[in-house]
Amino acid sequence: MAFEVPDLPYPYDALEPHIDAETMRIHHDLHHGAYVTNANAALEGTEWADASVESVLTNLDAIPEDKRTAVRNNVGGHANHSLFWQIMGPDGGGEPGGALRSAIDDAFGSFEELRSAVNDGGVKRFGSGWTWLVWDGTGLSVYSTPNQDSPVMQSDVPLLGIDVWEHAYYLRRFAEAQNS
Ligand code: MN
Repeated sequence: MAFEVPDLPYPYDALEPHIDAETMRIHHDLHHGAYVTNANAALEGTEWADASVESVLTNLDAIPEDKRTAVRNNVGGHANHSLFWQIMGPDGGGEPGGALRSAIDDAFGSFEELRSAVNDGGVKRFGSGWTWLVWDGTGLSVYSTPNQDSPVMQSDVPLLGIDVWEHAYYLRRFAEAQNS
């Protein structure tokens, strides 16, 4: 089955004042919508048309070369945004506990250190991309990726991803700049 944009699990304005409703609407409906449309178009007629996101992203070398970049960018974009909507929410925030907290303390020393590493990855990413907390099969790590490259491409499991493309935040930033 062709890829589909998943519904937002909350209203567009649920993340106000941090992310405004208009940004969410454009980001979810138009940007994610375009990744899905383009991913489906690139895979149509190939043996990968019904494949999962994971199998496509871990087998990019097997995708016909003339379609590979479009597949990488758009299937990656679909994977990344599908996670992104899930990990945010109006009742989110706070510090994790339990096994995740133990793994964070083991890998980074403290939750604050993790937060710094994730922020650092985003701030230092030149151009567009993502900063990630991933499970690599043995432990947690933090890194950033360019464009819509997904940790799934290297068989890591993304646990948290922050979209540092301008389209994720620019409307509010633009309004703040105009008002300052
Ligand atoms: Mn985005």
